[in-house]
Amino acid sequence: MARSEFLPFSPPSLSELEIEAVANVLRTDWLSSGPKTREFEQTFKTMTGAHAALALNSATAGLHLAMVLHKIGPDTEVITTPMTFCATANVVEHERGHVVLADIDPETLLIDPKEIEKHITKKTKIIMPVHYAGHPADMNAINALAKSAGAAVVEDAAHCMGSKVGDRWIGAGDNLALFSFYANKNLTTGEGGMMTGPEALVEEARTLALHGMSKGAYNRFAKGGTWKYDVPHPGYKYNLTDIASAIGLVQLSRWEELFARRLKIVDVYEKAFAGHKHFVPLKTRTGFQTCRHLYVIQLNLDTLKIDRDQFIEQMTERNIGTSVHYRPVHMNSYYAKKYGWTPESFPKAARAFERMLSLPLSSRMTVEDASDVVDAVEDICAKFKR
Ligand SMILES: *Cc1c(COP(=O)(O)O)cnc(C)c1O
Repeated sequence: MARSEFLPFSPPSLSELEIEAVANVLRTDWLSSGPKTREFEQTFKTMTGAHAALALNSATAGLHLAMVLHKIGPDTEVITTPMTFCATANVVEHERGHVVLADIDPETLLIDPKEIEKHITKKTKIIMPVHYAGHPADMNAINALAKSAGAAVVEDAAHCMGSKVGDRWIGAGDNLALFSFYANKNLTTGEGGMMTGPEALVEEARTLALHGMSKGAYNRFAKGGTWKYDVPHPGYKYNLTDIASAIGLVQLSRWEELFARRLKIVDVYEKAFAGHKHFVPLKTRTGFQTCRHLYVIQLNLDTLKIDRDQFIEQMTERNIGTSVHYRPVHMNSYYAKKYGWTPESFPKAARAFERMLSLPLSSRMTVEDASDVVDAVEDICAKFKR
């Protein structure tokens, strides 16, 4: 029996606590970055064990600041993965840098260090892995490659609040890492982001994120503050509001609960799908904890009479929302044109793209919802198997 109600792919999980927290901020005089934003940064820093944390209005803003801090410009190269959201590459273009792609491991869809190595040149300034779907990239290998190339590492951590390598949280290391709190991420403030990393760099970013002014509004307008400031650099407007930070603080306090629910849903999927004939879930590796941001499967198209897009149509017919993460960077027209890339330039990413879809996964789902997804998937496989 198909579901009577549509199951959205990834709705936010907000409670009366977040609503109350926003209302409380609206009752104060601080709407922009103020005491709540400070507290959000401190709590995030403590939770992840980061050296320093800076709240921003998006992960994209943070990725852009990372390009500025590491002086990306013409004649510099940034190596990243084709299997990511366009923002990861777009920020390199904003600074007139050169995007270099390194193909992925087809089982994890993470950037492959062996492919990175092939693309390192004297111009390589940054290696930018993405912790795809919440699964940490192979940071030991990537950090070692960067060190020998004299390059920095910037971690696109938009998927992975709560992921760990061993006991260490992503964000706790010496690289700049950028988290996203966009509406469909595993922790949300509607729009928002966080930069973590070495204190000196993060503090430089703090100035750049607020017009390049030597003092933020909270330091100027609060009691004991002064209006005086200087602008040593023309900066940007990337700060997070206290309204958003209040949501973030509640989300952090609910983190265990939110994560536990994701694990429950994934457990239903993993039990039902183990050794499946018609598709494979992402490979997980011991020693890495994933926050389970996305549940991506790759169809075994040889065993099915329908393609990925038709599979998605069938899911929609059964009232199940899905998504695709992602059309690879090099298959978007801007990048294909500028760099002369064809799908086959990065064949593993292109092949994964053809076969992939993301099943619903959110802290709002119930075990019954997950069973409905399993039923829909099995029904489609049975109906369209070769
Ligand atoms: C969501 C996302 C971003 C951008 O995050 P925003 O907070 O929306 O700017 C960047 N990279 C990846 C991999 C993402 O999924």
